[in-house]
Amino acid sequence: MTKVFKFGGASIKDAAAIRHLGELLGGFRGHPLVVVISAMGKTTNALEALLEAMRSDQQDDYRDRLERLEADHLATVEALFGSEAGDLRDRIRSLFAELDQRHRAYCHEDRALHYDQTIGYGELLSTTIVAAWLEESGIATRWLDARDLIITDASHQAANIDWQATAQRVGELEVDSEKLLVTQGFIGSTRDGLSTSLGREGSDFSAAILAYCLDAEDATFWKDVPGLFNADPRRFDNAVPLAHLSYAETIELAWHGAKVIHPKTLAPLQRKSIPLVVRSFETPDAAGSLIDDDTRNDGEHPACILSEGQTLLEVHPRDLAFMDEARQYHILGRLVEAGLHAELIDGGATRLLLCLDSHPARLEQLVQSLSVDYDMARQDDLTLLTVRHPSASLLAGLSEGREILAERRNATTAQYLFHTRECPEAWHIPE
Ligand code: ADP
Ligand code: ASP
Ligand code: MG
Repeated sequence: MTKVFKFGGASIKDAAAIRHLGELLGGFRGHPLVVVISAMGKTTNALEALLEAMRSDQQDDYRDRLERLEADHLATVEALFGSEAGDLRDRIRSLFAELDQRHRAYCHEDRALHYDQTIGYGELLSTTIVAAWLEESGIATRWLDARDLIITDASHQAANIDWQATAQRVGELEVDSEKLLVTQGFIGSTRDGLSTSLGREGSDFSAAILAYCLDAEDATFWKDVPGLFNADPRRFDNAVPLAHLSYAETIELAWHGAKVIHPKTLAPLQRKSIPLVVRSFETPDAAGSLIDDDTRNDGEHPACILSEGQTLLEVHPRDLAFMDEARQYHILGRLVEAGLHAELIDGGATRLLLCLDSHPARLEQLVQSLSVDYDMARQDDLTLLTVRHPSASLLAGLSEGREILAERRNATTAQYLFHTRECPEAWHIPE
């Protein structure tokens, strides 16, 4: 049965990392394998900055950024292949020429459309280099264009999957133990052939879609951490690895902002009970975390999630009118129109508190549309702490000495909103 692997940007950030990837995949020779790969390192951020330079008509900045990105990719090719790189170097150069052409063709079009016609080049470049390196390392490899496989609607930057068309395309693939298949995460296309993207960090979702359509034996995400922890190990000095978790619990962690897995990933896997394994590409022999249907280990450890860059909006009807359901419906409707997500909502007789991701343009749109009917107070630079399965003493320890600007609690989850300036660099989960 087929296995699906996903590798993120850190696992292919430079020539040494790509060599290491080749060694790791060499250990899976003879197994039907589909490998989904993101853009190298922080390439997608660089492509977003390139897009902004083009759209604000800063041509010198645009040119500099494009040349730097091309030079970085060519340097990786050079480091891997040296003087043998001729053909691959030409393919990389022509991908950059194509990217430049697309920027010129779409720069006066709608921003989201322009974004989607250019943002996938990070993945097109990385998979081209990695596939060539795998071949060079003696692993027979076939490069696939994910835009021929993942078919979506035209909701640019957050495209919805056309499951029927995608299942049909993926079903036509020949997956066998002879050739490893390499394709891009994050991107797809409409039935008409317009490129689309699935949202930032969407390669996890791509891998889950392919696993679903291939009825895969399992999906493995190779990360720079040895599995899923009960808190981001880079932010919490005593985070512990979780050996086993259910899909449902993992969806909760991802939805509340644990950056390690894209929240859309779990549903397709759960629908076919395909186990997900999260492992470290740095220590590939360690078992990592297993995610499946079994809920028995959920809640063994309390889990903490930090969401930074939050904004609190306190909305009051004028003249002490009630914040009744009709008003809440109206306010949440404006939220949906602005494309904002509220991580915490708390109501009172004459107010509604909304904790929102700081997205300047969307917040501006929301504030403008609500200011017609409501008074508002706004606080920026906030951090939301979400705790799953907390004890009272743990919550007391985590909130001690910090002003709580908003909070919410139910049987399994507690959330506190703090000023970011009051939060420590290194957090510690109290006993
Ligand atoms: P990839 O590029 O492979 O998708 P990400 O950078 O998106 O990898 O995810 C890995 C990162 O997620 C880790 O470096 C870690 O800092 C962060 N992270 C956040 N929360 C958690 C968690 N609960 N467990 C493990 N890692 C976490
Ligand atoms: N390269 C894309 C991003 O950085 C997709 C991904 O890495 O999952 O968002
Ligand atoms: Mg990611």
